[in-house]
Amino acid sequence: MKRVLITGAAGFLGSHLCDRFIKEGYHVIGMDNLLTGNLENIEHLFPLKQFEYYHHDVTKFVHVPGPLDYILHFASPASPIDYLKMPIQTMKVGSIGTHNLMGLAKDKKARILVASTSEIYGDPDVHPQTEEYWGNVNSVGPRGVYDEAKRYMEAITMAYHTFHNLETRIIRIFNTYGPRMRLDDGRALPAFMSQALRGEDITVFGDGSQTRSFCYVDDLVDGIYRLLLSDYPHPVNIGNPSEITIKEFAEEIIKLTGTSQKIVYKPLPKDDPKQRRPDITKAKEILGWEPKVGRAEGLKITYEYFKNKILK
Ligand code: UDP
Repeated sequence: MKRVLITGAAGFLGSHLCDRFIKEGYHVIGMDNLLTGNLENIEHLFPLKQFEYYHHDVTKFVHVPGPLDYILHFASPASPIDYLKMPIQTMKVGSIGTHNLMGLAKDKKARILVASTSEIYGDPDVHPQTEEYWGNVNSVGPRGVYDEAKRYMEAITMAYHTFHNLETRIIRIFNTYGPRMRLDDGRALPAFMSQALRGEDITVFGDGSQTRSFCYVDDLVDGIYRLLLSDYPHPVNIGNPSEITIKEFAEEIIKLTGTSQKIVYKPLPKDDPKQRRPDITKAKEILGWEPKVGRAEGLKITYEYFKNKILK
């Protein structure tokens, strides 16, 4: 049985990854310090003997007994509100945490996949974003702590690959949604759905003309799985290229939820990217991957989750 360590296991993406690897027949070791994670996301796995949970902060030396085949590093605060609240922890988990896990991967001769992000492109002036684009990041702006930590993560990952011959994979994750997103992480989708369910106004930031491209979580997890098992060490974008303005996105959620609430406009946060859409040519060619779940279907499933959480 192959053994995989997943950091950030109690988070939105980490918990779905735990499920997928259990389903594929792996022994899964989930690690989290619960800074932004929630054990509810993985409590269904606790009875399984193929699952172990370690409460640990990866910015401290990481020890895992026994062999490891794969490491997936998904620990980090990941929403703009979270990394504004926890800027130092965000920088530490992307830098020191990644360094610790590189050391562990080297020691165990394990392959490591790190979760990078479309945020490394900053407020992009190349559209859609290809992996070759170097980005437009404000290092000292509010998002700098996340963006630069992830850029450092990519750099140290490539350094371990070239200098120590470590088997490494880098995924650049674009906006993703689905069940187990935190209700209060300030992101557009949880904000809009919670507001609709609680009978509050829908808060669109700026004039809502900024764009994003939303990927359903199962599609993302499939892309991660394929990238891990591929032999490609360079960054790969995974996301859904279907692009929408935030105002249209809010309108879709208003329609889906049937709320009678209206959109209210709030100031646009500093350095909020004006546009974002992945070029997924590489993922298609190298991994044979493309998203399968459209927004209508994905939003419906996600809404059921939010309804149960908020109205129960
Ligand atoms: N946004 C919004 N209202 C909210 C929360 C977010 O209009 O209550 C906007 C935000 O300014 C951004 C977009 O929605 O332009 C997506 O924000 P999110 O935090 O989900 O992710 P980002 O892509 O900015 O990291």
